[in-house]
Amino acid sequence: MKPYDVMIVGGGMVGLALACALSTRTRLSVVVLEARAPSLPWSDAGTYPRVSALSLASQRIFQSLGVWEALQAKRVSPFSQMEVWETPGMNAIQFSANQMAETALGFIVENQAMQSALEEKLAQADRVDHFRGVDLVSFKEDQHQVTLSDASGRVFQASLAVAADGAHSWLRQQAGIQVDTLSYQQAALVATVKTALPHQRVARQVFLPSGPLAHLPLSDPRTSSIVWSLPTEEASACKDMAIDQFKQQLAQAFSFRLGEVKAVESRHVFPLYKQQAKQYVLSRVVLVGDAAHTMHPLAGQGVNMGLLDAASLSDVMEEALHRQKAFDAPLTLRRYERWRRADNAGLLAGVDLIKSVFASEHETVCRMRGAGLRFVNHFSWLKTCFMRHAVGNRSGLPRLARNG
Ligand SMILES: Cc1cc2nc3c(=O)[nH]c(=O)nc-3n(C[C@H](O)[C@H](O)[C@H](O)COP(=O)(O)OP(=O)(O)OC[C@H]3O[C@@H](n4cnc5c(N)ncnc54)[C@H](O)[C@@H]3O)c2cc1C
Repeated sequence: MKPYDVMIVGGGMVGLALACALSTRTRLSVVVLEARAPSLPWSDAGTYPRVSALSLASQRIFQSLGVWEALQAKRVSPFSQMEVWETPGMNAIQFSANQMAETALGFIVENQAMQSALEEKLAQADRVDHFRGVDLVSFKEDQHQVTLSDASGRVFQASLAVAADGAHSWLRQQAGIQVDTLSYQQAALVATVKTALPHQRVARQVFLPSGPLAHLPLSDPRTSSIVWSLPTEEASACKDMAIDQFKQQLAQAFSFRLGEVKAVESRHVFPLYKQQAKQYVLSRVVLVGDAAHTMHPLAGQGVNMGLLDAASLSDVMEEALHRQKAFDAPLTLRRYERWRRADNAGLLAGVDLIKSVFASEHETVCRMRGAGLRFVNHFSWLKTCFMRHAVGNRSGLPRLARNG
């Protein structure tokens, strides 16, 4: 096969976003190698079980890539308010888009919608090839290129290989990049649920002593996607529990904020752990998305961080080309690594702190937690400060994520 400039292993949301960014902003040739067979075309008949809360920064990335309209045409559920509370203290904090002069705080989007919209965009792109059902078996690297081959004997070569193949990244392992991993000893139970009361486009999350439970509002006014983090064994028990008992426990855990739970679609469980690669770049291999970092879903930031990785990597490569420098020069790639690793490390630490503070049943921590929530809720400038960061309205963003 012809050699490419960039080879992206993993055609998930982040890998595809990077391919779209490179095809929009540069003239580099790109190949995406995806292990899964092609998925069925998008269907809006039911709700797909996996959803993500997208930040405003991610929305701007999709807009810059020319994918946002296609995404909206599939299904996007904006939310304009957010409510967080803790039990047993019942201290709460509310956030509203009005406080930031925005119309939404974010968007709940089915992962399959993002995947399909990006795939459709790539199908029209020049200089991008997309192979699916690829079973990669070997990795070789020399001074000038990376060579991968698959089980059917096909050989793929490129100057730069990007690992976008998720938390258990095969390419990261082949390149010998180490990761720091910490299991949260928790799993997230995910399901689509119908509730007696409408969600009114409010994203809600309660911090229970066992872990956080979020209801993310979908386009139907009484349908939400739940992410319920529980100790691993409890999560499995909840998955297999009789449906009526599960509905009752879920409504109760959520302090009946949305009334009774009327219906539950299939339940799925995902183990939760924190991971950060020790390096994002090693010679001709670069990491993006979950291949570089994973975090607890309580802040709903994983794919948002991955999209920022993709936009930042495309930024530094574009800038190098603009200055007649090599897009894969060590100095160029180091810039990406310094930028994104520091940003992601800060967020990982922040999420860990929130998780520990809300998990603690120590009396002093509980008192301070309640006082902290009341304090932040009272001072609107402080709340706005938190919100700006969470929705991605902050400095230091890559071009694709900026306004205008
Ligand atoms: C319960 C839960 C809720 C979440 N909620 C949110 C949220 O609200 N907001 C948010 O921002 N994030 C959220 N996340 C995190 C988010 O799902 C991930 O950060 C995101 O999926 C990472 O995307 P990715 O493209 O990097 O990796 P993945 O989605 O894992 O995609 C990797 C791709 O690589 C392919 N692949 C794997 N191995 C190979 C190989 N050897 N060769 C070729 N291809 C390969 C896979 O098939 C896949 O297509 C949540 C996570 C969980 C578990």
